[in-house]
Amino acid sequence: MTTNGILLAKYASKLKDAGLHRVNISLDTLSPEKYRQITRGGDINKVFDGIKAAQKANLSPIKINCVVFKNKDEKDARDVARFCEDQDLQIRFIHQMNLETGEFSIVDGGEGGNCSQCNRLRLTANGDIKPCLFNELAYNVKDKGIEAAYQDALNNKPKAGTRNKSGKFYGIGG
Ligand code: SF4
Repeated sequence: MTTNGILLAKYASKLKDAGLHRVNISLDTLSPEKYRQITRGGDINKVFDGIKAAQKANLSPIKINCVVFKNKDEKDARDVARFCEDQDLQIRFIHQMNLETGEFSIVDGGEGGNCSQCNRLRLTANGDIKPCLFNELAYNVKDKGIEAAYQDALNNKPKAGTRNKSGKFYGIGG
């Protein structure tokens, strides 16, 4: 599961009990003020509490998704990398991508972004199963039922990403 982590303090152990093994948590800075700006009012302490709860619930691995503008030498990225080292968390640097123009790149420290090997399907919070982040295809589990939506997403997975004008990167677990 990919999450902003804000509700993990409350749900980490319930998710573990429900069968979740691993979690990716988005964190682009350690600065409370900058985090507030990026997330339009978010409280970074809730993310830290969520990370602690995920550790306590034995979710593993816990990966931190850190969006970078140019590279991982940026100050915020270095701060987050140090935090991950201290906390024994894995980090993945994700380059800021543009869904609409199809400008995407390999995820630094992870497997994402390699279309020829990609076998991923994403389930978004509103119930869409998306076969590719850089494509507008989506099959909704509430409209079609879980099995049909899953099969459609699987059968229609594109060979490679193209563009996505209907979603934003932060809204689809990029
Ligand atoms: S197929 Fe889509 S989701 Fe998979 S790596 Fe390519 S662009 Fe990303």
